[in-house]
Amino acid sequence: MKNTAGLILLFSLMACTHTADFASNVIEKMPEETVETEISEKEAPDPAEEAGGLILSFDDFSFSWLEMIPLLEKYGVHATFYISVAKLEDDNLSVLKELQYSGHEIGWHTSTHPNMRKIPVSMRSEAIDREIRDPLLELKKSLHRDIVAFAYPYGLSDKDWESRLLDVFTSTRGFCRTPRYYSPDELNERQHFVAASLDNLYYRPDSGEEWMPFPLFCDRVLNEIEQSGRYVVLASHGMNDNAWGITRNNVEILLAKAQKEGISVLSLEEAFFRESHIAEEK
Ligand SMILES: [Zn+2]
Repeated sequence: MKNTAGLILLFSLMACTHTADFASNVIEKMPEETVETEISEKEAPDPAEEAGGLILSFDDFSFSWLEMIPLLEKYGVHATFYISVAKLEDDNLSVLKELQYSGHEIGWHTSTHPNMRKIPVSMRSEAIDREIRDPLLELKKSLHRDIVAFAYPYGLSDKDWESRLLDVFTSTRGFCRTPRYYSPDELNERQHFVAASLDNLYYRPDSGEEWMPFPLFCDRVLNEIEQSGRYVVLASHGMNDNAWGITRNNVEILLAKAQKEGISVLSLEEAFFRESHIAEEK
């Protein structure tokens, strides 16, 4: 009887994924030791080999973020999603809840996406309430979770904003075209990070000197991480063919290459957590 149940389980796992309910019914009825022999244990990664990584982030808001959940899950990785919405609607909120439920980090990116540098210093106390403190409070209540990561609209910041924002967040993120790398120590000490763009705009043959074939860009970044054990922050907006998005194909290229090279892909929160843990153990 045991063997028959084992065969049914094996067959259902091999033959189809759409009968997952059926398979789980069988698993529930199976004696435990049989289940354990059918499912091979994943080898635990060696912590010594886990140095540096790729911190993935997405800005603004896009319903394509929902489609990214299964894709990121396929590679077992998480990202940070910095949201900018004028008003929190139920449909935005449900996307954020799905992301959060799947283990992704939610960060804030202002209400109206202003060029913050252009806001006069005399108006910044009011601006920080309107763009940041008030909507953030509402979002935290809705998500039942603290939000500690901030990304500047257009990546534009200055020293005055930086000191104001670090009263509210534990980190801020800017934006540029070329990757910058951060050592584990820098990740522990720094509060401002600059992300390199993953947007399609920069990977099109018609965008002049900025253009580099995407797979080559990935190889260079991953190679640098592997050689130096540092972190890089990358950012896009959504998963689409627009200038300000990354195609599904490119997301797959990046994640598959990282997986093949054994390079971690993380949310900012995960990277901080990992490095603070390693620092404590030293
Ligand atoms: Zn933005």
